[in-house]
Amino acid sequence: MADRYLSFTGTAPGRFLTRRLGLPRPAALKRHSPEQPDLAGGLLHLTAGKSDLDLAPVLARTNLPATGTDPAAVVLDATGIRSIEDLSEVHSALHPVLRSITPSGRVVVLGAPLDPADHHQAAAQQALEGFTRSLGKEIGRGRTVNLVRLTDAEAAESTLRFLLSPKSAYVSGQVVEVGTAPVTTPADWNRPLAGRTALITGAARGIGEAVAETLARDGAKVVVLDVPQAEADARRVADRLGGTALPLDITAADAGARIAEALPDGLDILIHNAGITRDRRLVNMPAERWIQVLEVNLASVLRTTDFLLTAGTLKPGGRIVATASIAGIAGNAGQTNYGASKAGIIGLVRSLAPRALADHDVTVNAVAPGFIETKMTAAIPLLIREAGRRMNSLAQGGQPIDVAETTAWLAHPASGAVNGQVVRVCGQSLLGA
Ligand code: NAD
Repeated sequence: MADRYLSFTGTAPGRFLTRRLGLPRPAALKRHSPEQPDLAGGLLHLTAGKSDLDLAPVLARTNLPATGTDPAAVVLDATGIRSIEDLSEVHSALHPVLRSITPSGRVVVLGAPLDPADHHQAAAQQALEGFTRSLGKEIGRGRTVNLVRLTDAEAAESTLRFLLSPKSAYVSGQVVEVGTAPVTTPADWNRPLAGRTALITGAARGIGEAVAETLARDGAKVVVLDVPQAEADARRVADRLGGTALPLDITAADAGARIAEALPDGLDILIHNAGITRDRRLVNMPAERWIQVLEVNLASVLRTTDFLLTAGTLKPGGRIVATASIAGIAGNAGQTNYGASKAGIIGLVRSLAPRALADHDVTVNAVAPGFIETKMTAAIPLLIREAGRRMNSLAQGGQPIDVAETTAWLAHPASGAVNGQVVRVCGQSLLGA
């Protein structure tokens, strides 16, 4: 969908007017392409506090050359910060370099898990979260700021590669925790999903189609599931990607069994993307609108997940990525049904993730998109749509590819230590911030 304001602000009169009138000035974001797979520029590695992290080998593998000037990426290792005095090193490390970070550049702050036995360490480490979110809101020029809490740099390699690449263009102000579960390093980082099968629900169009494209790009064999009415579109997507289509209403009572039947060799990656809205204020909402949304967005996700885990269709090393929404975090007028269903996804992820990993060696995470330019958001009335687009730190809507790239990172074989996370792909939306 066209964002005419974004195009206009890229012109000379647009720049003049937005500056004079104090209007939002979104920067054109640099996204991943085969021609430009990496950030255009070098990486600056800074440390605040005394760190024990063995970070250099992982950073060396990001393809970004080390630089001291005009970095495209800054990694601030603040894992060793244990006190408020130490925090002053965050200021002294970043303050001098901020201006020189290139447009669409990245700041990644590394923190440590909060120590339950040391409230001074916990205060200082939690401070990094407020710092990250605040810097994300002020840094501008399409630059992003994220915090990764980790103890083992190797376990965080896929996460660091993602956040230090153009693939994370619309992910900002996020806090990601990386655990210590063993990770599988792919033979080829350019085709990490080679030999894996991925099923994406609701993939005949929109975000699901972009997810299917991106997972296929990364080497997966894709199964494009959508309702029987969208079969022609699902086949078109599947044919283009060398995958197969599976016409199926995900709310069918036997949907899990039908998926298992279609995948006799099992499944590695399950993406719950299908979703609907049936907006009305609660006072005007007939029961069937409530039921439909809860059925498609949540109940079917619970049912198929349970079935495919129990049946063993989801193989060890598997990945589940469900789709929440900022409406499930912040709430939205007219969306009590939708907000409930998407918050439910977050509850499901948080509860199931540790058990699914322990019992099935499967990770469970969620993406929570903000305003993404799709048919779903094109249907929103103009003024509300314009507010949704601008009310985030990047002052623009995201593209389906932004959700897809985030999904691909969570589905990555080397992301085995990323579990139970809800990652917002929202340009740091002010809603629910
Ligand atoms: P979309 O309407 O463009 O596509 C959704 C797809 O799901 C369609 O192809 C539809 O046929 C399919 N689908 C619907 N019900 C189904 C069912 N019962 N069984 C199988 N397939 C079904 O939507 P989108 O904008 O691409 O959204 C994709 C997901 O992202 C949804 O879960 C949505 O709630 C979520 N999301 C979107 C945005 C956004 O800004 N677009 C924001 C937050 C969350």
